[in-house]
Amino acid sequence: PLSLSDMVEARSICVCVRKRPLNSKEVTKNDIDVVSIPGNGTLLLHEPKQKVDLTKYLDNQVFHFDYSFDESSTNDLVYRFTAKPLVQTIFDGGVATCFAYGQTGSGKTHTMGGDFSGKSQNNAKGIYAMAAQDVFALLKQRRYSGLDLCPYVTFFEIYNSKVFDLLNKKAKLRVLEDEKQQVQVVGLQEMYVSCAEDVIKMIEMGSACRTSGQTSANANSSRSHAVLQVILRRRNQVHGKFSLVDLAGNERGIDVRSSDRQTLVETAEINRSLLALKECIRSLGMDSHHIPFRMSKLTQVLRDSFIGENSRTCMIAMVSPGMSSCDSTVNTLRYHVINF
Ligand code: ADP
Ligand code: MG
Repeated sequence: PLSLSDMVEARSICVCVRKRPLNSKEVTKNDIDVVSIPGNGTLLLHEPKQKVDLTKYLDNQVFHFDYSFDESSTNDLVYRFTAKPLVQTIFDGGVATCFAYGQTGSGKTHTMGGDFSGKSQNNAKGIYAMAAQDVFALLKQRRYSGLDLCPYVTFFEIYNSKVFDLLNKKAKLRVLEDEKQQVQVVGLQEMYVSCAEDVIKMIEMGSACRTSGQTSANANSSRSHAVLQVILRRRNQVHGKFSLVDLAGNERGIDVRSSDRQTLVETAEINRSLLALKECIRSLGMDSHHIPFRMSKLTQVLRDSFIGENSRTCMIAMVSPGMSSCDSTVNTLRYHVINF
């Protein structure tokens, strides 16, 4: 019989949700947990209809996913059912993509880049690093050792439609598309890596680059998409590519009147790219011939993820449990409801 992860592997798109625990700040503010995971694949949202009497006006809504992870789930468990089944894809010559989606503070970077439970981020305990470890485990297997596959890593950020190289001091890069619609990020550093520890070093370097050197208080990492790619090359040609994407926060309720111009531009840009992403993933699911990848820089750069028979995608929606985050949580859950 097929195992659960075999079943995920057999499908081109997998959509999951992860709930994080209430944090100490929320507990101090008496925020209420309005999200529950009653069974695998389901999520229950107890949305208060009125903010006054919570117990009387709860409107329970059920959302369905391939997998749903509750607040006790570890990164390791989430990884096993989301990105891990995609590692094989790149050895088979395909394109794998894993997205972390959700409002700022919901756990995207914790899931992808590693948890912050110690003093600093533990980059060895995120999906980025676990995927890299599995890539190296497969490279050592006899059936692949004769293929001459060479692993490389890129790490870049897309902020306001501009691409910045996180492995090269945030150099601003141009994106070009040739007559065959092949998209290229000009000058993007592609670093050869010889072991998983090499990749972890790149993750550390890139993550540090991502959060530092910002000019505006607003222009922090939550307003940009970060893309880590593991590329397998064979005789210099791309054999397979795994993109792991920590998306910009999709928050709701940004006050148009009190926000500065830059915040409004950023927000419009984020909304546009997340809409484009949804459209592209949807056309992947429908085997459509027209993929609107030019709708945003994000989808343009990830064009390979949406074409071809051997493309596999996993979406992980992150949700905060608190009632104070309810609007954004509903927004996140609805993004996934229109079934890909
Ligand atoms: P995002 O990247 O979506 O803005 P973060 O990953 O930075 O959110 O998470 C915000 C905070 O919540 C961090 O301090 C992080 O350690 C914590 N956190 C997120 N997810 C979890 C989780 N599943 N378990 C424990 N803490 C978490
Ligand atoms: Mg983050």
